[in-house]
Amino acid sequence: MPARRRTATRKTAARKKWVYLFSGGKAEGDASMRALLGGKGAGLAEMTNAGLPVPPGFTITTEACNAYFAANKQLPRGLWEQVERGIATIEKAAGKKLGDTKNPLLVSVRSGAAMSMPGMMDTVLNLGLNDETREGLERLTNNPRFAWDAYRRFISMFGRIVLGIPGEAFEHALEANKRKSRAATDADLRPDALRQLVAEYKEIVKRETKKDFPTEPRAQLRLAIEAVFQSWFGRRAVDYRNQFKIRHDLGTAVSVVTMVFGNMGNDSGTGVAFTRDPNTGTKELYGEYLVNAQGEDVVAGIRTPSKIAQLKSEMPKVYEQLEKIAKRLEKHYRDAQDLEFTIERGKLYMLQTRSAKRTARAAVKIATDMVGEGLITKDEAIRRVDPAQVEQLLLPRFDDKEVEKARGEGRYLAKGLNASPGAATGRAVFDADRAVELKGAKQLVVLVRPETSPDDFHGMVAATGILTARGGSTSHAAVVARGLGLPCVSGCAALDIDLGKREMRVNGKVVKEGEPISIDGTTGEVFAGELPTILPNFKGEKELSELLSWADKRRTLGVWVNADTPEECRLARELGAEGVGLARTEHMFRQAERLPIVQDMIMADDTEGRKKALAKLLPFQQGDFVEMYTAMDGLSVVIRLIDPPLHEFLREYADLDVEIAVDKALGKDGAQIEKKEKIWKRLEQIQEDNPMLGLRGCRLLLVYPEILEMQIRAILGAAIDAAEQGVRAKPEIMMPLVGTMGELDRLHEQVVQVAETVFKERGRRVPYKFGTMIEIPRACLISDEIATKAEFFSFGTNDLTQTILGISRDDAQKSFLTQYVEKKIIPNDPFQVLDREGVGEMMRISIQKGRTTRPDLKIGICGEHGGDPSSIEFCHQVGLTYVSPSTYRVPVARLAAAQAALAGAAERDR
Ligand code: PEP
Ligand code: MG
Repeated sequence: MPARRRTATRKTAARKKWVYLFSGGKAEGDASMRALLGGKGAGLAEMTNAGLPVPPGFTITTEACNAYFAANKQLPRGLWEQVERGIATIEKAAGKKLGDTKNPLLVSVRSGAAMSMPGMMDTVLNLGLNDETREGLERLTNNPRFAWDAYRRFISMFGRIVLGIPGEAFEHALEANKRKSRAATDADLRPDALRQLVAEYKEIVKRETKKDFPTEPRAQLRLAIEAVFQSWFGRRAVDYRNQFKIRHDLGTAVSVVTMVFGNMGNDSGTGVAFTRDPNTGTKELYGEYLVNAQGEDVVAGIRTPSKIAQLKSEMPKVYEQLEKIAKRLEKHYRDAQDLEFTIERGKLYMLQTRSAKRTARAAVKIATDMVGEGLITKDEAIRRVDPAQVEQLLLPRFDDKEVEKARGEGRYLAKGLNASPGAATGRAVFDADRAVELKGAKQLVVLVRPETSPDDFHGMVAATGILTARGGSTSHAAVVARGLGLPCVSGCAALDIDLGKREMRVNGKVVKEGEPISIDGTTGEVFAGELPTILPNFKGEKELSELLSWADKRRTLGVWVNADTPEECRLARELGAEGVGLARTEHMFRQAERLPIVQDMIMADDTEGRKKALAKLLPFQQGDFVEMYTAMDGLSVVIRLIDPPLHEFLREYADLDVEIAVDKALGKDGAQIEKKEKIWKRLEQIQEDNPMLGLRGCRLLLVYPEILEMQIRAILGAAIDAAEQGVRAKPEIMMPLVGTMGELDRLHEQVVQVAETVFKERGRRVPYKFGTMIEIPRACLISDEIATKAEFFSFGTNDLTQTILGISRDDAQKSFLTQYVEKKIIPNDPFQVLDREGVGEMMRISIQKGRTTRPDLKIGICGEHGGDPSSIEFCHQVGLTYVSPSTYRVPVARLAAAQAALAGAAERDR
């Protein structure tokens, strides 16, 4: 950079506002400044402006954090001067001074990004303490225990977070000290013991860093601010952002806040409160607090806290004030809030407010209740609920009968807190890395820990459920599990976990690593062994039905379903499906009584032999179709003809060569061996190197037209059967894997021919449609021609993604795709989230061309993307007629489609 410009940039940096004050009922920021001040900083500013009791402080902006990293970890120019001014302001407001031995000001240095990332970054409390200020604090409070306790907490926290000393070093010293002084809990440590501990902690710092503990408060502050900045790129924060797809360039703000103490005796305390129950959504103050403790004790789950209702009798005035503040904040933010508070000698202080994380059930209930209370509109309610959360509401739960049976068999182990709902069964694993390992080996795991910390995050993501021995329903485990939609049982005190031996003892039983356990996050119960799960009753979800009925009024995209059986059709219709967008007929071939017939067909030596086998299959398919039409009475049922390569129906014979060799060695029956050899030979004949690009889809139908004939007979024969029973059958026949007009023309000809024959034979005609999947890039490019024959299109984005990206889904997901996503070579797994630039662009071309020929062309999507909210948004934008997800994603799609419509309308209004 030329020197002049560099100087100019420096000057701009020096003039730039890096620090925003909040003090004395007035703040420089407000709630709208989340991006700059982080959620915490914006919340503190807003609460200050609203006249709530917030200790004075200031927030350093996220821009400062980004500037710090841009300048190779140097504080930007002008920042420190602004921090000094900030300190001077809060010193004045608090009537205390940083480093003053008589009346010391202590501060907390807190992280806070724009997006809530609970516990993922670092915070330092009690900053400003050294030997002299500690003495001052003791004199001031007349409470030596408190002053020593604050000091030892500060050294260990600062040591761990700022100086990078492993936490165990301090924990071991604390445990040894407790044993020596016969203290059962931290709270039982007497001043002398704490003084001794402080000396030991200082030794640890010296040993680990080769330097004395920094005693100058301003130096402490500078180091702490830098450490909080750096925690933005700490492993757990990076993992968390990857998981929740949060950008890495947002940076964290740092709030420096006057310390208030919840550990000044029994008239003090600290806690977390939710304005509504985050599990159920019930409108009542929910939360926990600890008397004589600091905030870290609640979040870390080291002591099990009391329920907030108890505060009503313990400190009635404080409770009343808290309830009032909670109501006010909820009204102000028009959303349920998660509050952090501290009570210092009977006086309540608010330290944080943020939108409360909640379960799917709570999200839906709060949104619909708030519409009823006139707090938000129906459109806002639709926007408030994450479509992915809706899937959670349809989570499996344990079958009551099986639970009773398990009890009878003595498999009930214990009960903890029902911290996050849903049922999970898996192998017990006692550390996060092992959970990741087993997940990699395709095992279901339940992560069991004494308590979780942010360092366990990667293991939590890999688990199907989480079980902890300690911690309440606002502990780290509970909060994170709810965010991830994982079942969690916390505070299960009966567990005695031995991490060294990788086992737990519970009520006289031992569960070792790898043994199955089952946890119920809805009841808090824990069982040994596996418990079968059942799916919940959608009809019972009244609030969800109401929310979705509002969503239906807003969306323009249809929501159909991928369903292959009559049962699935019935369920899907209950869930709101408006048609079947894909029935994969080959799934009907896999059922027990049918597979041998299909295999006979494959084994047949000639057309006649194949026709014989197909004639046996026909009644099965026809029967299925009648039931499906009946379930979908009056709605379209898109039936796709056979798609997979034939060898997929001979999977059970994959090791037949070995079997034959063994049979021969054992001298088994010759006729049997001969039969097996015939199958093996056929298998070898039809084996392909790239079966996904081989003889499958419409290619199979063109090579073996008798298969097409049987399927068309079944589809239309069933439609006539159904019509005779008064059912309004609407079959739509769909061809897979079409890439050329040569294929489509012939297929169309054959379909018409068979249809006419069937109609003649039955003496009755039924309406049907002829269409095609668009899942080969070439089909996108000639969609104008395709639309001359096809009356509808359906994007098969599974194959379209494979063929456009040249990535085999089955192989890639096993090998490089996960790494690609982790290393950010590509932003998402393209088989889950539609690749808009590549696949999406091809879709646009196809839609545009197809509708040039046929303006009213009906176009859907039936690849997995049809159930993914972000892909659904894209489908709305490009003007698809409908999306067709798998059954349980139908409600997800209804909500996501409405959100896409609302977002589109908002965009147009802008
Ligand atoms: C597709 O390719 O998107 C599709 C729906 O077909 P299948 O997954 O059965 O290949
Ligand atoms: Mg396909």
